Amino acid sequence: MPYLSTAAIQGAVQHLAGAYPALVQSVPLPEPSVEGRAIHALKIANGSDPDRRGVLFLGGVHARELVNPDALITLATRICQSYNGNSDIVLGGKTYPASTVKLIVDSLDVFILPLVNPDGRTHVQAPSGYPWWRKNRRVNAGSSCLGVDLNRNFDFLHASGIGTSADFCSDLFKGPGAFSEPETRNVRWMLDNFPNIRGMIDVHSYSELVLHPWGDDDTQTTDPVQNFQNPAFDGLRGNPGDGVYREFMVPEDRDWFVNAGNALRDAIAGVRGHSYTVEPAVLLYPTSGTSKDYSYARHIVDTGKAKVFGYTLETGQEFQPPDAEAAQIIDEVCAGLLQFCLSLLCLVESVAADALTDVELDGLRRFHDDVLARSPVGQRYLAQLVRHAPELLDGFAADEALRSSFVELLRAAGPVLSDGEGETVSKDLAGRADEFLKDLGKGRGRSALGRTIRQLRADLKVFPERTVRQGLEELERERPAP
Ligand SMILES: [Zn+2]
Repeated sequence: MPYLSTAAIQGAVQHLAGAYPALVQSVPLPEPSVEGRAIHALKIANGSDPDRRGVLFLGGVHARELVNPDALITLATRICQSYNGNSDIVLGGKTYPASTVKLIVDSLDVFILPLVNPDGRTHVQAPSGYPWWRKNRRVNAGSSCLGVDLNRNFDFLHASGIGTSADFCSDLFKGPGAFSEPETRNVRWMLDNFPNIRGMIDVHSYSELVLHPWGDDDTQTTDPVQNFQNPAFDGLRGNPGDGVYREFMVPEDRDWFVNAGNALRDAIAGVRGHSYTVEPAVLLYPTSGTSKDYSYARHIVDTGKAKVFGYTLETGQEFQPPDAEAAQIIDEVCAGLLQFCLSLLCLVESVAADALTDVELDGLRRFHDDVLARSPVGQRYLAQLVRHAPELLDGFAADEALRSSFVELLRAAGPVLSDGEGETVSKDLAGRADEFLKDLGKGRGRSALGRTIRQLRADLKVFPERTVRQGLEELERERPAP
C-alpha cells in the first residue's frame, strides 16, 4: 500500500471524527499552511474531567519522512477500533489489552496532529516534486530557494544558530524568526490552547532513537545558573563534551525523561526486537529551535505554563521504507506511543479513583509529586509500574477481590503516604502490603512482573518504624542507581 496522500490524511481525520463521534473530535488549527491548506488535529477521549492530562503526538514536520503521518492515523484508528470493539491491539510480539486502551481513552486526552506540514508532503508526493524535500514551502523574499526547516523554527535558542542555518537554500534554514511559520505556530497553539498536555512526542525519521532534551548542549543537574535563558553564556553553547557550558535540568525531570524513554524503547522492542537508543538529543548533533526543547522549556520561561515532557522519536532506518518495512515501523510507533500514554497516567489513581474520596486522591497525588517523583528509588518504582501497567490493569480487571484489597491497602496507608515527613510505617501496615504483593504475585513467579514483585517485597523490609521518605533514602543508600 502506498503512503497516504495529503488529502487522504485529512480525509482520515474527518472520517474518524464522523465514525466515532463519542470518542473523536476534529480540532481545526487556527492557521492554514503557507500554500493555504487547512490543518486538523484529532482529540481522542471519553469524558471531560478537568483533572485529565493530555498528550500530543506530532507527525510530518519534515516532509520526506513519509511513514510517520501514516503511523499516527493508524494509531488513532486502532485506538478507536479497540475501544469500540473491546478488542486487544496486537503489534507483532507486543499486545495492549482492550482494558489498557480503555483506560487510556477514559482517563487521558490524546491529541494527534498527524501532518504538521501538508505543503511539504504534497511536494514530496507530486510527480513533478522532489522526493527528498524536508522543509515547508515558504517563499523566501529575494531568493529562489523555498522553505523553512520547521524543526529549527521553534522558540528555543532560535537566535543562537546552533545546528541551524541562516541561508535560505539550506535544509536547516531556521526562518527569519522563531515561529515565523504558520505550521509551527499551530503547534504552539495546541500547547497554549490545551494546557493539560503534559507530554509531547514529535515523530521523525530515521535512526531508531528516542531523543529527549537537551538538544543544544550536554545536560547537568547541579548548576541552575548555566541555563538557556542566561545571556552570560551566549556564544558558549552548542559544543558538547567541552565542559564549558552544560544545560541545567532538575534531576527528577532528567530521571523522568530517561525512565519514560526506556519504557517507550522496551515497548518498541517488544514488536520485533529492534532496540531503539534512548539519549539526550545533543548526542545526535547539537540543535536549536526544535519542538521537544521548546515544549519542555515553556514552563521554565513562564512558570505559569505546565511542564511538558517533549521527545523526538526517530523511527526506522530510512526516510521512505518499502511497504512491508513501513508496516512494521507503524506497529513500533503504535507500541511506543501507547506506552508513553501510560507513562503520563497515574495508574494507581486510574485503578482506584472511583473508590477513593477526593481528599484521599489529593493525598496520593501529593505523595506521587512530592515524595516518589523526587526520589531516585521512587522514580524506579514508578517506572516499574508503567512497565507492567498492561498486565497489572488486566489483573485488576479480572479479579475484583484483588482490586478491592488494593483499594483498602491504599486507604489504610493514606496517613503515611500523604505525609511522607511525619508518620512512620507500622509493622502491621508493612505486613498488609506484603500480603497484597504476595497475592498479586500468585502465578507470576517467573515473569518480569513476578521478579519486580519479589524485589518490592524485599524492599518492604526497610520501611517499618521509618517514614516512607526515610525508607526510600535507606534503599537508595543500599542500592544506589546503576
Ligand atoms: Zn525529521
